[in-house]
Amino acid sequence: MALEMELNATPSAATGSTTRRTTMKPTVLVVEDEEALSMLLQYNLEKEGYDVVATADGEEAAMLVREIEPDLVLLDWMLPSLSGIELCRRLRSRSETRNLPIVMITARGEEADRIRGLDTGADDYITKPFSTTELMARIRAVLRRIRPALAEDIVTFGDVVMDRSTHRVRRGEREVHLGPTEYRLLEHLMQHPGRVFSRAQLLDAVWGSDVYVEARTVDVHIGRLRKALNQKGQRDPIRTVRAAGYALDEQFMN
Ligand code: CA
Repeated sequence: MALEMELNATPSAATGSTTRRTTMKPTVLVVEDEEALSMLLQYNLEKEGYDVVATADGEEAAMLVREIEPDLVLLDWMLPSLSGIELCRRLRSRSETRNLPIVMITARGEEADRIRGLDTGADDYITKPFSTTELMARIRAVLRRIRPALAEDIVTFGDVVMDRSTHRVRRGEREVHLGPTEYRLLEHLMQHPGRVFSRAQLLDAVWGSDVYVEARTVDVHIGRLRKALNQKGQRDPIRTVRAAGYALDEQFMN
């Protein structure tokens, strides 16, 4: 009954499979073939502040992982075409998704299956039936453990410190003044240190996919960000990757 009431409260929560990422919220890919459960998960995840994309199909999920690059996958064990465990194994075997946080959902509660799930590389495991409160806590814990930058208010990269609760950035003792676009660019890069983003990906993440902006605009704002961050010969934490895009330079940490 409670489930029905919650579902009725969300008329448009379940249309997700083509939603593009347009904000700084972490994106969760829900892979679940039970429609009622999928809708309940989407509703609760959105309420918790996540962007949600959902699919009932393992093969489609594999494609969506490449396309939307989710921050976490919530993966049902039993799926019609490609099983959750097979998808998990596949994601773990590719270098791009080796560290992608995965939480498995299953009806099986036996210890042997639990161990098998974790062996396949899932980061956590929850057994049906479960309370959504517990699941949300597990998701937060996994994200905090694997992607601390997505969950924490204070994010650091070398001597660059960002406080996301006050929107302030410091480099060492110096306060760095950034425009809103430069702030969001830096936030996105700091949430994924080392990862190379193309101009198109940065446009999508920072400006949103609905806005038409030329790719060159990214270069302009990266230039402003660098100018604000690097003063008096300070090392540049941003790496330009020729023909590819930009990344926070992991060498900077050494
Ligand atoms: Ca299922």
